[in-house]
Amino acid sequence: MVQPVTINISAINKQITVPTGLFINNEFVPSVDSDELIHAVNPATEEVICSVVAASPKDIDIAVAAARNAFNTTWGKNVTGFERSRLINKLADLIERDAQELAELETLNNGKPVKIARDFDIGDSVQCLRYYAGWADKIIGQTLEVDNKSKLAFTRHDPIGVCGQIIPWNYPINMWAWKVAPALAVGCTIVMKPSELCPLTALKLSELVKEAGFPPGVINTVPSFGPVGGAALAAHPDVDKVAFTGSTITGRKVMEAAAKSNLKKVSLELGGKSPHLVFESADLDQGLPVRSPRSLCWLEASGTMPGISCELLIGPLSAYATTLARTFINLLVSKVKDQVIGGGYDVSSGGGPVVSKGQYDRVWGYIEAGKKEGAKVILGGTKRPGKGFFVDPTIFTDIRPEMRIVKEEIFGPVLSVGRFRTEDEAIFLANDTSYGLGAGLHSTDANQCMRVASALEAGTVWVNQYNMLNNNVPFGGKKQSGIGP
Ligand code: NAD
Repeated sequence: MVQPVTINISAINKQITVPTGLFINNEFVPSVDSDELIHAVNPATEEVICSVVAASPKDIDIAVAAARNAFNTTWGKNVTGFERSRLINKLADLIERDAQELAELETLNNGKPVKIARDFDIGDSVQCLRYYAGWADKIIGQTLEVDNKSKLAFTRHDPIGVCGQIIPWNYPINMWAWKVAPALAVGCTIVMKPSELCPLTALKLSELVKEAGFPPGVINTVPSFGPVGGAALAAHPDVDKVAFTGSTITGRKVMEAAAKSNLKKVSLELGGKSPHLVFESADLDQGLPVRSPRSLCWLEASGTMPGISCELLIGPLSAYATTLARTFINLLVSKVKDQVIGGGYDVSSGGGPVVSKGQYDRVWGYIEAGKKEGAKVILGGTKRPGKGFFVDPTIFTDIRPEMRIVKEEIFGPVLSVGRFRTEDEAIFLANDTSYGLGAGLHSTDANQCMRVASALEAGTVWVNQYNMLNNNVPFGGKKQSGIGP
């Protein structure tokens, strides 16, 4: 057994106890053959919070064996949908009970404001678990007549088996729930590998898995470095499916490892370069609302929680010259300026630091590239002094399609504002990317809304809103933003 550590969160004068071992078979255990540690860092202060065990490939073998054993004995086809539903609902209740503490821990390791972690990420996680708990006892196949009514064939849905789940850092709790809830509901068992940048809340959630009463081995959590534990999971011959969310470059490796090992099933939720078109008829007040962190692209892009961040905002050509245009740009800048980027425990913060030094350097690399390639900075673009990986929201105008800030995913608080002459050109510019995760448009012309929405090549298209996600709405990416489910 590995003992938990007690962390002092001085900003709120609070202590939280966090498990630091690998969660396998409902116990927190050390690695069997490695003393490698993951040092979890507070991105607002750059200090190490604590260190947790990093799983080795051998530990992944053990976790997969635990999941296989649970699948064959206590879960899989050995448990009713009613029981799965009861346990998933119980887990949701426990997460709801501990929402404040979980949010505070999420903020410590990820940087996002407590209120966002609690009200959006954890609120949605609870809803997600309850949504899939509702499906667990309603899994039905079809009956087909095959021979003059004397013979029937029927289909049934069986659980796939052991699922490896590999997740990124931007929604550590929420992503955990999005992955485990559907797998549990259908009877799969899980080996979850959280991001090495944010492993703490996945471990804290594991305590709740045990408290809820899930049999040992149903959900195992193995923090690990991607090229070690993630690669081992993707290549494991006894894993039946790998569900991955992360960058396109890593997704490619996961798919390759899956193909080369046992041709396991793969679902991939990958990167994006999500555009948003603002047409001349747009209601700018509706187009530029504030406060709800999920309602607006540039707010989403300004925090530590880029989901489907809008990185490209494209308005009509006249938008630079006319009154409408000046209103548009001024409103945009003033709304973004309203966002306080600060420590996640400060209630006035609308966004926190980016998650790590690596991500900080990556985002600044793009801001510098944008300047060098001739784009004009109209907001932000200068570094803050002092500690913490804070990046103030940065807006570029005067962009060209070949610029790196326009072509490549930044995954930080950087928005590029471009322009178009015609609707066709707008659609061309929006689709001129290898990604196809999300897209949006603002227009009050209903015909235009329908026409453009169907022409945009993205898994999700929002009309007169942005980044609204619901558990009962399908989600996924086109082109190189993913495959699945
Ligand atoms: P990443 O690809 O670096 O890492 C994602 C996960 O993969 C981590 O757990 C990491 O440890 C693991 N990993 C790294 N190398 C691996 C390997 N060789 N084999 C197996 N696993 C490996 O991504 P990130 O920086 O954590 O997250 C940011 C990316 O995630 C962005 O590209 C963003 O667009 C994407 N993302 C997509 C969605 C979506 O819904 N499509 C949602 C959130 C984030």
